[in-house]
Amino acid sequence: MNFWEKIYLPAILKGMAITFSHIFKKKPTINYPEEKRPFSPVFRGLQVLNRDEEGRERCTACGLCALACPAEAITMESAERKPGEENLYREEKYAARYEINMLRCIFCGLCEEACPKDAIYLSETFTPADYSRKKLIYTKEDLLIPNPKTDAADFEKAKGEGAPTT
Ligand code: SF4
Ligand code: SF4
Repeated sequence: MNFWEKIYLPAILKGMAITFSHIFKKKPTINYPEEKRPFSPVFRGLQVLNRDEEGRERCTACGLCALACPAEAITMESAERKPGEENLYREEKYAARYEINMLRCIFCGLCEEACPKDAIYLSETFTPADYSRKKLIYTKEDLLIPNPKTDAADFEKAKGEGAPTT
């Protein structure tokens, strides 16, 4: 080590110069959640269970989404539609229980691809984080879009741009 290396002063000044050179540069950091980065047009976010234009649940509990899911994240139980429930369920069979385990989901979109009824799609809503594993198992109530007949404003808000056209 020579004299200048032994007193560390040039190295300290060099380090400070690098630090100061970054002070006036534009910050690449995004202060999430106050600031949000614009998503890619092909971004796949939280799943939405869709309704038809009359507000009926589209899902017929065929199980194709669960079969296509590589993460085995989807669980459902089917039930038969009863007379008088035609305004609730579009098909004769519906999902009495429908759950997606968000701890497993990799947002691949294969459930949406597999669905023959346009009953599920991945919206551009970012899935919120949580401290509880239980809260990250989303139930049908969490996933089902608001009824466009009775709750038009919330339906439009939840639908987003990724919704399939009916
Ligand atoms: S997005 Fe992919 S991983 Fe997530 S539930 Fe659908 S098929 Fe499964
Ligand atoms: S969401 Fe679609 S693929 Fe999945 S069970 Fe319902 S109708 Fe079938």
